[in-house]
Amino acid sequence: PDTLSRPACTDASPVAPLLEVIGADTLVPLVDGRTVPYANLDVAASAPALAVVAERVAQVLPLYASVHRGAGYLSQVSTALYEASRRSVATLVGARADDVTIFTRNTTDSLNLLAGAVPGRVLVLDIEHHANLLPWHRASGGATVVTGAPTITETLDLLRAELARASYALVACTGASNVTGEALPLADVVALAHEAGARVAVDGAQLVPHRRVDVAAAGIDYLAFSGHKTYAPYGAGVLIGRRDWLDAAPAYLAGGGAVRSVSADGVTWAPSPARHEAGSPNVIGAVALAAACDALAELDAAAAHAHEDALRDRLESGLCGIDGVEVLRVWADSTDRVGVVAFAVPGHDPGLVAAYLAAEHGIGVRDGKFCAHPLLARLGHGTGAIRASVGLGSGSEHVDRLVEALAAYLTDGP
Ligand code: PLP
Repeated sequence: PDTLSRPACTDASPVAPLLEVIGADTLVPLVDGRTVPYANLDVAASAPALAVVAERVAQVLPLYASVHRGAGYLSQVSTALYEASRRSVATLVGARADDVTIFTRNTTDSLNLLAGAVPGRVLVLDIEHHANLLPWHRASGGATVVTGAPTITETLDLLRAELARASYALVACTGASNVTGEALPLADVVALAHEAGARVAVDGAQLVPHRRVDVAAAGIDYLAFSGHKTYAPYGAGVLIGRRDWLDAAPAYLAGGGAVRSVSADGVTWAPSPARHEAGSPNVIGAVALAAACDALAELDAAAAHAHEDALRDRLESGLCGIDGVEVLRVWADSTDRVGVVAFAVPGHDPGLVAAYLAAEHGIGVRDGKFCAHPLLARLGHGTGAIRASVGLGSGSEHVDRLVEALAAYLTDGP
C-alpha cells in the first residue's frame, strides 16, 4: 500500500494558477548559464505570499507601533490591527465564540505551547511531522506514539483500541500529511476521541492552506497552523482552541504583556491570549497572516479544491507514467489528499535528483525525510524521498516541467 497503483496517463487540459502570488516570475540560473522561470514545487515547505498579502503589508508597514501599551495614535492603530487580525484568523477556521486565538511564531511554536498546557497524556500516530510528535513527550503526562496501519480503517481501530486501553487527555492528529498529502477523516478521529473523553488537537499546517476548516462544526478542540504555509511571510503562526487548559497553564514565555500584576512577592498572570504572548508581538506578521486568511475566506473553496486536485492528479499520473518512479502513500483506502506528492526513484539518491532538477531545470522540490522520520522508515524510504507540492499560485506548466525533467533524468542521466 505504500506505492500508488499506476493510473493511465491523462492528457488533461492546462491548469492556470488560481490566485496571484508574488515572485511567480522569478528567473533562476541554470548550470549551463541560461536563466529560466522558477518552477516552485515546494509550496508545502513555505508558500509564496499572495499579492494581496504583499499589498496589505506595504500599507501597514509605515503604521506599526507598540501594541496594547502606547497611548499614541499609531499605537492605537496597531493595537486595532493586531486584534482585528486575531478575528480574521479565527473567522477563517470557524472558531467558537469562546475559543482563544493566540499568535505564535509557527505551528511548531503553537504545538509546544499546547504541550505545556495539556493536563494529561497525549496519543499520537507515527505519521506525524516532528512538530506534532516531539512536543507531546514534554506534556505533563507524556505521550504514546502508535504505529499506524496500512489502511485508514485499521488505523482508526488502533486509535480506538488505545483509547480504550489507557486514559488520554488529548489526541494530536495531522489535518493532512506533509509527506503524502493524505488526510485522516477528522470527524472520525474527533468522534472516537471525544467518546473516550479526550480532546483533539489538529496540526493544520498542511490543511488550512488547502481546505476550508470549520473548528466548531468539526468539534476540533485545538488547531495550529503557520502563516508561511498559508500564503503569508514568515514569523506568525496561530493556536486556536478551548480556553480552560490555556488559562490554567503556566505562561508560555515569562515577560511583559503576559501579566496582570507583578509585585516583589510574585506575579498574577493575565488570561489568554495575553498570558502566552509575552514580549512585543509580531504585528506585521499577524496582519499578513490575517490578510491571507481574509483572501482564503473569500475564495470559492470548491474551486480551490478542484484546482489543487487537477494539479495533483496531473502530477501523479505524469510520475506514474515514468518507469522507475514510485509514488508514496500511507493508506490504501485514503480518499482526500491535498496537493503534496512524495515519490522515490529507487537506485537514485533523492538529494542528487533534487539537485539535478534545480541546477538543470530550475525546479524547486524538497528531498530528505520531511521531518517525518518514523513515517518514512515505515514506508521503506528511511533514507529519504522527494516531495513536490502545489498551491494556489501553481499551474500545470510547473507540474509538466517536473515530469519532463524527471523523465529526461531517467532516460539520459544527470
Ligand atoms: N506540521 C506539518 C504537517 C508541517 O508540514 C510542518 C512544516 O513543514 C509543520 C508542522 C511545522 O511547521 P513550522 O515549521 O511552520 O512550525
